[in-house]
Amino acid sequence: NPGTAHTTPRTVRAPRGAERTAKSWGAEAAKRMLMNNLDPEVAEHPEDLVVYGGTGRAARSWEAFDAIVRTLDELEPDETLLVQSGKPVGVFRTHEWAPRVLIANSNLVGDWATWPEFRRLESLGLTMYGQMTAGSWIYIGTQGILQGTYETFAAVARSLGRDDLSGTLTLTGGAGGMGGAQPLAVTLNGGAVLIVDVDESRLARRVEHGYLDEYTTDLDAALARVVAAKAAGEALSVGVVGNAAEVFADVLLRQQAGEFTVDIVTDQTSAHDPLAYLPVGIAFEDWKAEASRDPEAFTARARGSMAKHVAAMVGFQDAGAEVFDYGNSIRAEAQLGGFDRAFAFPGFVPAYIRPQFAEGRGPFRWVALSGDPDDIRKTDEAVKALFPDNAGLVRWLDKAGNAVHFEGLPARICWLGYKERHLAGLKFNEMVASGELAGPIVIGRDHLDAGSVASPYRETEAMADGSDAIADWPLLNALLNTASGASWVSIHHGGGVGIGRSIHAGQVTVADGTPLAAEKLERVLTNDPGTGVMRHVDAGYDRAKEVARERGLQVPMLEQ
Ligand code: NAD
Repeated sequence: NPGTAHTTPRTVRAPRGAERTAKSWGAEAAKRMLMNNLDPEVAEHPEDLVVYGGTGRAARSWEAFDAIVRTLDELEPDETLLVQSGKPVGVFRTHEWAPRVLIANSNLVGDWATWPEFRRLESLGLTMYGQMTAGSWIYIGTQGILQGTYETFAAVARSLGRDDLSGTLTLTGGAGGMGGAQPLAVTLNGGAVLIVDVDESRLARRVEHGYLDEYTTDLDAALARVVAAKAAGEALSVGVVGNAAEVFADVLLRQQAGEFTVDIVTDQTSAHDPLAYLPVGIAFEDWKAEASRDPEAFTARARGSMAKHVAAMVGFQDAGAEVFDYGNSIRAEAQLGGFDRAFAFPGFVPAYIRPQFAEGRGPFRWVALSGDPDDIRKTDEAVKALFPDNAGLVRWLDKAGNAVHFEGLPARICWLGYKERHLAGLKFNEMVASGELAGPIVIGRDHLDAGSVASPYRETEAMADGSDAIADWPLLNALLNTASGASWVSIHHGGGVGIGRSIHAGQVTVADGTPLAAEKLERVLTNDPGTGVMRHVDAGYDRAKEVARERGLQVPMLEQ
């Protein structure tokens, strides 16, 4: 990518411990989280500053990275750094309650919001793709998506009328930074799963990190293993090296020949970016060269393959499988590739997640800046003690404590909603203040979120009032988080589903043990999920109206 040319890759690892070199914990935390995003244990391709999700970057270039780090170390506690798509562009005097960093990533004016125009600007070094938590410096490795994926597969089991996934076989694609959580999420739910990826090194990485049990290059052998596991009701995940467009079609043919039945089908290849999806007929080794030689022709081939890939998924659906789009825009791309039944299956948000969003629930995450895994163990216990009646949450924290291998700074994720998150934030702040924890805690969230996302193929697909593409909501969310005391706030375009298809916002707030941090945390962690409830009240969801009334959210036009 020419946008990152003339730069020097190097190995980055965030400093650990309770001593800081920056002048405030807000700035120190932003610096450590930027570095943590690029830690080789965390990032998929750190040498290119790519964290995850196709080409999701943490900084525009290595020079920009150095300048951000230097500026954060010098930043006064009443100053704010502005970052424009991964490049530090200005420092302004604000005040102590203001964010230390404000970030805008990949934003383009509507008519210009296309991949070709984005790439043209990127190649001039003028922008970068920030994905969701890559350019907002709160990616925590594959765990970040694990609980959501675990909860989604648990919801799939319920929709199949089962307690768990034992005795079922799932087929999916994409073992990258996010997609790599799928095999563990299925096995934690008791099922058997076959996951296809063209890149053997991604499958090897998931095995190394404990997210995948085994992988092979031999489809027959892989199928034999998962079919036997399904029959025995055992949890097993097997990876197979191959192109998902071909392998899905091949597996469908074998199913039609009566060899076995696949129960659940989804996909998390990087379909949102046609250059990050390998078309059938192009060798893995030629991928980068072919994509840069003629991006338009490559895009057309990728979409053609996605049409085959999605046609196979619809074939499984026609045969009775539970099939869903897992937030990568593959239906839209397959439709562009000429497959007109691409939207035959739903997206995962309307299918399984929306009721949670109506309560402002979504992935809430925290990171121990001490680097001490014990801090996460202690905060896990604290969250369980705060919400002892939430059986799913307690079960998840126990499973995660046993199964999750930390990547980079120790971190945890769990789903909490409106009038829950601030309780956790205040508790963590007390634990920092009392010295129970070895250092401050950074608290943020995914952009898979109830109130901060406009994404008609994903978070806001099929909204009850048809407001799927209204993007005022994420902008209001970012403004409110800024006004409420977040440590850094970001506004992004194109995350998850690609350029032209989403606008979303992020916030991260630091618990450094001070009374000021407590005041900020209480406001941010109440208001941020509150916008999710507000959004769903406005769209007419009854559960959101109940939550607003019960938990005291003021919505001026909601009849009491
Ligand atoms: P990634 O780029 O790290 O991984 C994508 C993987 O797909 C790579 O390992 C790549 O080798 C593989 N791949 C590409 N073309 C293939 C093909 N034809 N056949 C088989 N494998 C192929 O991306 P990621 O972070 O894992 O994200 C994957 C997708 O999921 C993205 O589109 C992302 O936007 C989306 N996403 C969804 C959620 C969610 O909540 N559901 C969250 C984050 C990301």
